[in-house]
Amino acid sequence: MKLCWFDDFRLGVVRGEEVIDVTGALDRVQKETYPRPSGDPVISHLDSLRPEIESLAVSGESRRVDSVLFRSPVARPTKIIGTPANYLKHVEEAAAETGVFRGRYVGSVREQGLFLKAVSSLVGSGEGVRLRFPERRNDHEMELGVVIGRRGSQIPESRALEYIAGYAIALDMVVRGSEDRSFRKSIDSYAVLGPWLVTAEEIQEPDKLNFSLSVNGELRQSSNTRYMILSIAQQIAWASEFYTLWPGDILMTGTCEGVGPVRPGDVMRCEIERIGVMDVHVS
Ligand code: MN
Repeated sequence: MKLCWFDDFRLGVVRGEEVIDVTGALDRVQKETYPRPSGDPVISHLDSLRPEIESLAVSGESRRVDSVLFRSPVARPTKIIGTPANYLKHVEEAAAETGVFRGRYVGSVREQGLFLKAVSSLVGSGEGVRLRFPERRNDHEMELGVVIGRRGSQIPESRALEYIAGYAIALDMVVRGSEDRSFRKSIDSYAVLGPWLVTAEEIQEPDKLNFSLSVNGELRQSSNTRYMILSIAQQIAWASEFYTLWPGDILMTGTCEGVGPVRPGDVMRCEIERIGVMDVHVS
């Protein structure tokens, strides 16, 4: 199932070129009172909501995919986790940078550790990236996004994939410079997730997906998730050694080689096999 939030936070199911409005399935979730438990309520309740979502998807009002504005398919994550230095060829290109663009972090992914992006930076593909410092270099990082489906801590690697709700395309945008990574990667709209969430059962081998990013039609990044240094399962297990993972938490699994700058007016076309395509405008 492809699940999305669109327009003024309508819940949708994507089938072919159509988005079907299934917002009615949320009635039960919306009755939860304050304070809500941590994590995204729709992702938390996805298994129990699913029959209602699927029945509404048969009869609900539908719109064309190209006529709606896609929001982030996860509305309320507790954290966005980033994995740095997770593709060898990207590690090599980063090491070759000089001057102000040289990364301030060195060492392997295990030595560097994971980092966090502020949840307030999260947008959907239809909302676009708004450069906060257009005079500085702002880079795209094209990544597979993994959405956690249930609460977990100290998750063994052998069971880590059971904790996944689904997958989406992720952009880990960054303004280059000398400040701390979490600071430079947490600007509003610098975490893009979209265009929709593909639930886990539709992707049997998330470690074997082709992906690419082009800017204004020019191919910049192209790789396959098989080249990750730490697998998805290893990343989930490692993250959960340090903090509890909650439903809706987003893992950005690292970028491949070919990161590069974007400017206002650019359009990034991002594609991941079995997930889909999203165009993200830069302003
Ligand atoms: Mn990244």
